[in-house]
Parts: sequence; structure tokens; C-alpha cells
Amino acid sequence: MATETAGPSAQRGGRQGGRPALDDEGLVFETTAGVEVVTTFDGMGIKDDLLRGIYAYGFEKPSAIQQRAVIPIISGRDVIAQAQSGTGKTSMIALTVCQILDTASREVQALVLSPTRELASQTEQVIRTIGDFINVQAHSCIGGKSLGEDIRKLEYGVHVVSGTPGRVCDMIKRRALRTRAIKLLVLDEADEMLSRGFKDQIYDVYRYLPPDLQVVLISATLPHEILEMTSKFMTDPVRILVKRDELTLEGIKQFFVSVEREEWKFDTLCDLYDTLTITQAVIFCNTKRKVDWLTEKMRSNNFTVSAMHGDMPQKERDAIMAEFRSGHTRVLITTDVWARGIDVQQVSLVINYDLPNNRELYIHRIGRSGRFGRKGVAINFVRKDDIRILRDIEQYYSTQIDEMPMNVADLI
Ligand code: ADP
Ligand code: MG
Repeated sequence: MATETAGPSAQRGGRQGGRPALDDEGLVFETTAGVEVVTTFDGMGIKDDLLRGIYAYGFEKPSAIQQRAVIPIISGRDVIAQAQSGTGKTSMIALTVCQILDTASREVQALVLSPTRELASQTEQVIRTIGDFINVQAHSCIGGKSLGEDIRKLEYGVHVVSGTPGRVCDMIKRRALRTRAIKLLVLDEADEMLSRGFKDQIYDVYRYLPPDLQVVLISATLPHEILEMTSKFMTDPVRILVKRDELTLEGIKQFFVSVEREEWKFDTLCDLYDTLTITQAVIFCNTKRKVDWLTEKMRSNNFTVSAMHGDMPQKERDAIMAEFRSGHTRVLITTDVWARGIDVQQVSLVINYDLPNNRELYIHRIGRSGRFGRKGVAINFVRKDDIRILRDIEQYYSTQIDEMPMNVADLI
């Protein structure tokens, strides 16, 4: 493994087109020897009609991870790719999947698995949009949707499936999803997918896939124990990794508020309400019950908030996502179902009403703000007996979490 920085930057910051520019050229990676850095999409050997789709989507220049990982992925290597949240990893899945597809065939050739339904459909959407000019047929296979519709779509023929493990496995076992032509499996949020809750389901899918399968793992967090198990199902993978003290983004300012006791959190949140609505905000609680409770309590105090968690019917989850994505609602109270991968660029504030249950979740939660170089603020509500946890996070990532200043609204 070699350590390298993304190199000196001629132009820092700035905005191009309708998208924020990501100044990620100072990021440090640990990469397998021989990984080339290709700084333009034109230089990557991408199909013309796909390039058109990428540019039409508003991408002008590949991000640091895209500059390193696209080539190994499209050349068929097994790849483990890690990069900070919001720096274009999931978008890279979309574009590499489109590149390797043969759209003359109607068979499923790539399978992308994600931990939540919302992330799986977001990825499907990006694949469709970027792949518009190559006429890609993408389908999301997720729980909570009609089985009949899934079967019908798959019968009709799609090139790529983006799904959650349970439904995908179901479709394979029903022989609605035929795996014969699948050449690429991507696990987005790979550490979550390979953790206890999902591992068996992933294996269940994996054993139906052809033996010469290409495997790509993507995440902002890849703890050691996960990297160690990859040798069981990957062949000589190219690794592009980030040290954990490089994982927090400069653009996301992190603060804490001491609340002494649990009961004080609510008043603190109410005091912050005007700040929450400057753009859009996500508030994380550790349980679904607490999300329901906090939502009720905010509403009965005449604050407008929306809420989402995994016990809601999928129709309702979809409606709440659509409202929040469109900016129609501004404050979302939710669980860790929202911690990973969801990309809503207008989110500039994340509140940990409860501190997350592990170090990885902290990175993912605060990464819902500060997407692709935008500014972000994360505020942690810390009870007396939580201070230890906060200090642990601070140390683990070699980052700084200061007491929230009075003028926090000016930072958003
Ligand atoms: P990650 O998976 O690393 O968290 P995403 O792929 O979700 O990041 O991308 C975050 C945001 O950045 C998205 O809104 C995406 O459209 C945008 N983005 C990704 N790559 C580029 C690029 N090369 N140029 C401009 N915007 C990009
Ligand atoms: Mg992602």
C-alpha cells in the first residue's frame, strides 16, 4: 500500500455550473501500488453516450475517489473503495455500472445492494439519469413494494438491479431475477452490508451468483474486521482506503451542547428551531419510539416537523422522502435508517438528539450534511453521562468537537 495525497490544486473551491465544487484535492488515500489517478472523465475510456449522460447530469470533473477507482472497476478488477461521505462514491457506482453493461442484451448484468430501501431507489434513480443516453433499464428491488410489479419488470428485462438484500434474494429464489449474466456485484455501505444484521442475507444472494463474479465494496467507513473478511469472496482486490483521522470533512463543523439531563434536550431543540429551518435539517434519535415521541411533542408545541422510520408503511416513507427531497418539508426527525447514503444537498444541519450507538454511524450521520463540498454543521446533544462517548469519537477520528457557539446560525 502506498500513501499519496490528491496533489496540489491549481484552483481551489469555486462553483461550476449548477453544482457545488468539491475541493477534495488535499485528501490522502492509501492505495494499492499501481493505481493511476485520472483527472478527467474524458480520459477514462468511457462510452460516448455515457459521457454525455455524466456531463448532462452536471458532473464536470471526477472527484478524488472517482479519479482513482473508476478505472479499476470498469477494467473488471475487484475493488474496495473508501472515501469521505458526500464525495461521489455512490455516483461512481452508477457510472461504472452503466459503463460495463451491454444494453443490446436484456439480461441482468449488474447487481447493486444497499442497506435501506431509500438508498437502493436513490441509486437506481442516479443510474437511470446518468444512463439515459445509453438506454439503460434499471429496476429497484426493495421490500415494501408490490411483488407482482417486481416480477413483471424483471420479466420484461432489465440490465441492472439496485435493491435491498431481502427482496433481491426473494426474487432470485422465485426465478424472477435470473443471475446467469450477472458479472458485477456492488455492495454500497459495504461495512453495514457485511455486519451481523446483513451478512447471512448477502451470502444467501452471493451463492446464486456466477463464480467469475466481480465484487466491488464501497463505504466511507471500513473497519478492520470487515477488511479482514473480504479475502473470502474477493480476488486480489485493488484497495483505495482512507485513514480514519482523514475521515471527517473540513467543511462539516462539529459541536456539542451539554444538556445535563435527558429532559433538557427538548427545550434545547426548540431553541434551535429557527436555525433548523435556515435550509434543511435532519434530527437523529436512536429508536423509532423516540422519533414518534419527539415528533408528537414538537407538533404539540406548534413546530412543523416531519418524521420517518422503518415501522412506517413504505407508501408513507416514500411520501415523506419526496416532500423532504423537494424542500417542501425542512425538518426531518428520523432513525439510523437515514444515517447512510441519502443525498439531499440542501441538508446543512444534522442534530444528534441521541448520540449514535457506534463510531461508524457518527461519520455517516454527520455526512448527511456537507454534500460534495457544501458547508455543514453537526450538533450533538450530550448528557452528562454521554461526555465519554463524545470524547471517544473525537479521539478516534482525531477531530475537534467544540461547544456550540451562540452564532451557530451564521455557520450554516
Ligand atoms: P457518497 O456516496 O460518497 O456519499 P454521492 O455519490 O452520494 O456521495 O454524491 C454526493 C453528491 O455529489 C451527489 O449530489 C452527487 O450528485 C454529487 N456528485 C458526485 N460526483 C460528482 C462529480 N464528479 N461532480 C459533481 N457532483 C458530483
Ligand atoms: Mg454513498
